[in-house]
Amino acid sequence: MPTPPTASALYSQILDVVGGVEPRIAEAIRSELTDQRESLKLIASENYASLPVLMAMGTWMSDKYAEGTVGHRFYAGCQNVDTVEAVAAEHARELFGAEYAYVQPHSGIDANLVAYWSILHKRIESPTLDRLGAKTVNDLSESDWEDLRHEFNAQKVMGMSLDAGGHLTHGFRHNISGKMFQQHSYGTHADTGLIDYDALRASAKEFKPLIIVAGYSAYPRRVNFALMREIADEVGATLFVDMAHFAGLVAGKVFTGEENPIPYAHIVASTTHKSLRGPRGGFVLATKEYAESVDKGCPMVLGGPLSHVMAAKALAFAEARTADFQTYAAQVATNAKALAEGLLKRGVNLVSDGTDNHLVLLDVSSFGLTGRQAESALLDSGVVTNRNSVPRDPNGAWYTSGVRIGTPALTSRGFTESDFDVVADLITEVLKNTTPTSTPKGPSKAKYVIADGVADRVKNRAGELLDANPLYPGLEL
Ligand code: PLP
Repeated sequence: MPTPPTASALYSQILDVVGGVEPRIAEAIRSELTDQRESLKLIASENYASLPVLMAMGTWMSDKYAEGTVGHRFYAGCQNVDTVEAVAAEHARELFGAEYAYVQPHSGIDANLVAYWSILHKRIESPTLDRLGAKTVNDLSESDWEDLRHEFNAQKVMGMSLDAGGHLTHGFRHNISGKMFQQHSYGTHADTGLIDYDALRASAKEFKPLIIVAGYSAYPRRVNFALMREIADEVGATLFVDMAHFAGLVAGKVFTGEENPIPYAHIVASTTHKSLRGPRGGFVLATKEYAESVDKGCPMVLGGPLSHVMAAKALAFAEARTADFQTYAAQVATNAKALAEGLLKRGVNLVSDGTDNHLVLLDVSSFGLTGRQAESALLDSGVVTNRNSVPRDPNGAWYTSGVRIGTPALTSRGFTESDFDVVADLITEVLKNTTPTSTPKGPSKAKYVIADGVADRVKNRAGELLDANPLYPGLEL
């Protein structure tokens, strides 16, 4: 997306105004741009939103309360928020071919909570109210209400385990989803690193979940949603897909057929800011039968919508409907393959031996490193990644044995396959030249040394790639 010619002057003035109130904030905003420009951003969940998307968030739309839904608000004067929300939802529906879109969730976690609640409402609350002849929970007697509360608490969810690549919100003990539901997780095959659908089917039959969650944060492969739906139907579960990570690949028509969750899921939740490249936020897509339940997101788990962010979501969805976005999405996957091949040929171990989405998961244990050491050594060399567990990780979720690397952000900057081969080379150089510090108890899990000159050499080569693919070209700040 070209930078408008007036953007430099505009942002300069904005930062002067912000700095007039608190100079440290203006300085931090400037400095963040420099940091983003000068590092190889390989965090799989990050991206660079377009300037129009960023601009839409910095407006007075932020100042309006609008609890409720379009045309049905608990505050007066919401006509402009109605326009914003309706346009954003229309673009989301058209982009994904969904029957219903709810664009209020403030983040991915909020979107997932809306999804969970809508399933509980549809599957548990509504039938109970019908059975008892009640219109709302206010019409229930104290003892019926207590029974219903217990009923909510007895429900079961089945999602991918954290170390196989699932997300905290898929039933992990330290997240409310793990406390709200009885939980059972599915994992990946020990040899192939792929989802073991046969094992998943067998444990779903035994566990009988109300909800099966498909989706991931760190699984480097595509999911067969047709098969997931078949399993859900067999056990009477609702299929909830969390496409937070790969929404951009769905929007950009890289994931089609059985890899596109929309025709198969009852309900889909997502973020807008990862591969989809929008503002920080969430949204939910649903079939018509779940639409009414999804609308109960506010007041059930959300307060007033962030109207300025919904405006930016509308722009991001509109951008994602263009041919340019499809080119970007295809390149994200092509680049991930090039990165995986570049790493494999240099002797780096990858979970599942490769990728067919936007991320690769390195197992750095063959270098004698923990994920934490690898993450830090890469950061010292100007390469920003994040450590991540690998399946059955002996180092747990804090030190880990893995590093997760994604291609969306650098693809947005214009990186192609040959650039990612160089990125693979830089990563390998850092890993090969980093050693854990020895302690009296053995090698440290956190401390390390990088061989002399390596970090600077990598930074310089990374700098050449970054200069050739500038972030917000023409924006002089
Ligand atoms: N779902 C998945 C699969 C994610 O990877 C994430 C974030 O990392 C989320 C949900 C939560 O998104 P947010 O950080 O916007 O709440």
